[in-house]
Amino acid sequence: MTTSPLANLAIQTAELLEAVKALSSLEALREAEPLIIGKRSILSTLQKSLGGLEPDDRREAGAQLQQARRTVEAALELRRDQLALGARAERLASDRLDLGDVVVGAIRWPASSGHPGLVASTQRELEDVFVAMGFTVSDGPEVESDWYNFEALNIPPAHPARGMWDTFYVEMGEPETVVLRTHTSPTQIHLMESAVASNSLPIHSVMPGRCYRRDTPDARHLATFHQIEGLVVDRGITFADLAGVIETFTRKYFGPDISARLRPAYFPFTEPSAEFEITCTICRGEGCRTCSHTGWIELGGCGMLDPAVFEAVGVDGDEWSGFAFGFGIDRCAQMRYQVADMRALIENDVRFLRQFS
Ligand SMILES: [Zn+2]
Repeated sequence: MTTSPLANLAIQTAELLEAVKALSSLEALREAEPLIIGKRSILSTLQKSLGGLEPDDRREAGAQLQQARRTVEAALELRRDQLALGARAERLASDRLDLGDVVVGAIRWPASSGHPGLVASTQRELEDVFVAMGFTVSDGPEVESDWYNFEALNIPPAHPARGMWDTFYVEMGEPETVVLRTHTSPTQIHLMESAVASNSLPIHSVMPGRCYRRDTPDARHLATFHQIEGLVVDRGITFADLAGVIETFTRKYFGPDISARLRPAYFPFTEPSAEFEITCTICRGEGCRTCSHTGWIELGGCGMLDPAVFEAVGVDGDEWSGFAFGFGIDRCAQMRYQVADMRALIENDVRFLRQFS
């Protein structure tokens, strides 16, 4: 009488189930799986030993073995689910933000109240100065089509000037290319379009807002930054008006001893174009390390609107003329409050922020 190869199957199955239950991590389960259920497992070895049996016996043994395998497989799946749930709970627990960490030093009684950050408060101050000068404040989208961000501003595809802006692309090509705006200038296009459509020229407006460029952040650059842009479209506007607005703004915002000067530059959407510099706010023009001992610091760009821009938005260049200017709000905050590293503006370190309450 020969012993059936499956004589100990019940015990062997029980042992396998015990082993599955003892698995303590998903990694351990992955490692043990081939030994429990794979080609090197006891179940597979038993399967091979059935070859010597009579056909009827083999069929019956095969069915028993199949049943045992299903039981072990089900246990393995159950254990895998349990371990995955546990791992997830653990991950959630460790990811939980402990808000107590952040505010522990800030809580005093009576609790101190919050206040706008440096960039937001600088933006409001700038808006106030321009509103006092007769400008309105306008807003535009941060996600723009290529046409608004580039083409309407006289920067066609493949124009070499596109290299001036390292652009984040949201969508390429058909039906249209979509970008995160690299400057606030597209808002000018929206403003002029709607003024033409509603027959409501002239325009005297400033447009503050967030912009994006693929820049590696350093002490003087951020990949997400803020600009304020000014647009004037009216009858008989000349370069002298532009220079006057820049000078008036500079003295009103930075103080009566700070003045502005213009230097020739190139921008695709203005002609002629200029960069404007202001007296160094650190040394008041004496010369220091920040201004490379020139007494001047570059603030932004400006110029008379290019006829190609008027043409793109349908403004009659024979009747109207205009200028635009723009500069960084973050840079303004950095200079006015003498923040050495611009990254401090976005890091939300309460020790930094509290200095400006
Ligand atoms: Zn200086």
